[in-house]
Amino acid sequence: MLRVNENYQKLAASYLFSDIAQRVAAFQKQNPHTKVIKLGIGDVTRALPAACIQAFHHAVDEMASDHTFKGYGPDQGYDFLREKIARHDFQALGAEVSADEVFVSDGAKCDTGNFQEIFSRDLRIAVPDPVYPVYVDTNVMAGRTGNYVDGRYEGLVYLESTQENGYVPQPPSEPVDLIYLCFPNNPTGACATADRLKQWVDYARKEKALILFDAAYEAFIRDRSLPRTIYQIDGAREVAVEFRSFSKTAGFTGTRCAYTVVPKECMGFDAAGGGHSLHTLWYRRHCTKFNGVSYPVQRAAEAIYSDAGREQVRELVAYYLHNASLIRDKMTLLGYDCAGGDNSPYIWIKTGTDSWEFFDRLLNEAGVVCTPGSGFGRCGRGYIRISAFNNVDAVTEALERIAGVLRK
Ligand SMILES: *Cc1c(COP(=O)(O)O)cnc(C)c1O
Repeated sequence: MLRVNENYQKLAASYLFSDIAQRVAAFQKQNPHTKVIKLGIGDVTRALPAACIQAFHHAVDEMASDHTFKGYGPDQGYDFLREKIARHDFQALGAEVSADEVFVSDGAKCDTGNFQEIFSRDLRIAVPDPVYPVYVDTNVMAGRTGNYVDGRYEGLVYLESTQENGYVPQPPSEPVDLIYLCFPNNPTGACATADRLKQWVDYARKEKALILFDAAYEAFIRDRSLPRTIYQIDGAREVAVEFRSFSKTAGFTGTRCAYTVVPKECMGFDAAGGGHSLHTLWYRRHCTKFNGVSYPVQRAAEAIYSDAGREQVRELVAYYLHNASLIRDKMTLLGYDCAGGDNSPYIWIKTGTDSWEFFDRLLNEAGVVCTPGSGFGRCGRGYIRISAFNNVDAVTEALERIAGVLRK
């Protein structure tokens, strides 16, 4: 008899996005002439930078000739890409990362989800609340949690991100082994200062723990005093793995390219206390289960680091950040406490009412779709997330409609 992995039965069905879709469809049916504006999107909306398209086309042409055709690429990704990543994203900031510590992949979602595979089953795990659900669900599937009770899994340590702590949680009072952090954060838009990250690095070193640092929104950081990588923090190379993605940076959500940095100093331990290199373990896992990102896509990603590419990416991100500032300014003017939106495409808004009640009000009275914060965890109750991924005219119109409703 074929037994299934019963941990999957523990997964709380997330109805968040299907629930939103149903409510929007019902509204549209009753109001066929209202143009619904979607500010709930966690996906980019603008085209790839021209430099990427040019490199992409050129690489496709190379595949058309026997002389320049490429088959399987190197296990960790092409040198041309990994060297530029190491130089521009880390060394240029004074952070020590070498090209052979970079693993190119087809997504930060896969990497943040898969990394737990190299660890034992009985880890103590800390996750943020509100949270990007991938961190939690992949550990549930692996059998590292108990059941789902009142919005939380038994056995996980939840790091509460609240207005009181500026949505940047402190290390817990109890020991944990694996810590998921995400800054700039999805969904709160909060960023961690160097001092706050240092507390986490120090904690991880003391506990012989590891930080899995999701920096998918790094390109949105504009405040020069904020760290752009966890490796700008002393000691982080021993206790932190960093995940990056070209998805939000350069519009690669449908093109697929990302990378993970695993410093050579990061260690895990066996039952006898013997140390094992996480770089070696992840290398083993990566090249056993993954066969690389396509050559044209790696060339398109490389183009981000050219002079033209860097300028185009800066402009692309600036476009979304402008939307974000419009949203944040308007909601603040209307009297709402907002987080994010300055170094992040997301604005996290305290509604003063139930998340879904506020969602319904914006939908039914303004024809605007947001994301109820409660869908991201218990600490999201009473919040909504508004996303800046849209065109500026749609954002401007949505804000006018929202103001018309909320001013009443
Ligand atoms: C969008 C996003 C990613 C990126 O995922 P990809 O698989 O690289 O597209 C990673 N982490 C968070 C928190 C995100 O919101």
